[in-house]
Amino acid sequence: MARIVMKFGGTSVADLDRIRSVASRIRRQVEAGDEVAVVVSAMSGVTNQLVGYCQSLSPLHDAREYDAVVATGEQVTSGLLAIALQTAGVDARSWSGWQVALRTDGAHGKARIEAIEGERLLARMRSGQVPVVAGFQGIGPDNRVTTLGRGGSDTSAVALAAALKADRCDIYTDVDGVYTTDPRIVRRARRLPKIAYEEMLELASVGAKVLQTRSVELAMKERVRVQVLSSFVDGPVPFENGTDSLLPGTMVVDEDEIVEKEIVAGIAYSRDDAKVTVRKVPDRPGVAAAVFGPLAEAHVNVDMIVQSTGADGTTDMTFTVGKAELPHAIAVLAAARGDIQYGELLTDPDVAKISVVGVGMRSHAGVASTMFRTLSDRSINIQVISTSEIKVSVLIASDYTELAVRALHSAYGLDVG
Ligand code: ADP
Ligand code: ASP
Ligand code: MG
Repeated sequence: MARIVMKFGGTSVADLDRIRSVASRIRRQVEAGDEVAVVVSAMSGVTNQLVGYCQSLSPLHDAREYDAVVATGEQVTSGLLAIALQTAGVDARSWSGWQVALRTDGAHGKARIEAIEGERLLARMRSGQVPVVAGFQGIGPDNRVTTLGRGGSDTSAVALAAALKADRCDIYTDVDGVYTTDPRIVRRARRLPKIAYEEMLELASVGAKVLQTRSVELAMKERVRVQVLSSFVDGPVPFENGTDSLLPGTMVVDEDEIVEKEIVAGIAYSRDDAKVTVRKVPDRPGVAAAVFGPLAEAHVNVDMIVQSTGADGTTDMTFTVGKAELPHAIAVLAAARGDIQYGELLTDPDVAKISVVGVGMRSHAGVASTMFRTLSDRSINIQVISTSEIKVSVLIASDYTELAVRALHSAYGLDVG
């Protein structure tokens, strides 16, 4: 007997048929003798619709009310799945974040989990009941509903698995594992039987939406065994090369559990960033602090940064912020114009960040130059570059996203067949 947290994403609970199918899957797991807790996302499209409502009313809306609105999607699915389970003969009940209680900090819209009171859930599980927990939501120090950032149900699931000391956290989604890149845009992407925590963390943080970054961070810290699986197929799916065919999805593991390491494990893209250029800033010590200080105070995360100084004694600062945070960043920089003394503020939301990731980069030179050459051969202009020990990222015009990802996937020898 194992204790398992099963998490189902939006497409896995997209309609009542899908919810029934998820209920049968959970029933099979329970009938196999396992203790099961379930975490659900909102039905696919619902969170986007709720976010859209808030944005239409006001782009600079109250984050506490945003949370009150967007958390409702998960509540609907937790109730519906509990009904479907009961109908299938499984004892089940729904739990919202505050009922658990899943306690978070007060950063509405991107709250962090601080504690989970798992004892009551555990007692129910021991008596054979399946808790169906609404993912993505918690309760803040002000007793108000919080949400964990987009894709946050993965983090709810991993945190719950850690709190319940579960043997495994199974993340069911609409693809059958983690691939060398998004299989929806590269048909020749390869499924990885195993991926190192560190690579998964880096891939997630640069845009591979299959797992939320914080869920991987937490899994790594709390040593939770995370497996990514499809809720659309039953049983093991053979790998193209015929190996590891008994593993049904992708297991996230320690680096030393991977025998044959590739230099590049995967390629990710993100269209969630916007480029900001602060032009003609007097070039003096303290410029960067004057630009980035107010943004940090306003909790606007800045990612890639490049500074170029002209012959006229002024400098241009180019950087990226989350697209959703762009209106906020513009407002903050406009308010700080007197201090920064910039000439012009330019923004471009039509950019994409393309990243190649792999632990093998630590010991192999030439990964970045292959990337630059591949993009230049396709006449794709690189606007900003950033690197870490196991990653190289570039910012390009978003129209070239798919072309760039496909070209790089081939260039690093990741294509199937
Ligand atoms: P869920 O609703 O189940 O949480 P998501 O849409 O958040 O699902 O994540 C699954 C999606 O992640 C897939 O449909 C796929 O398009 C995308 N994806 C991006 N990069 C990868 C990758 N490297 N491997 C697998 N899927 C990926
Ligand atoms: N429903 C939320 C979202 O769409 C959380 C999740 O799906 O993980 O971001
Ligand atoms: Mg997701």
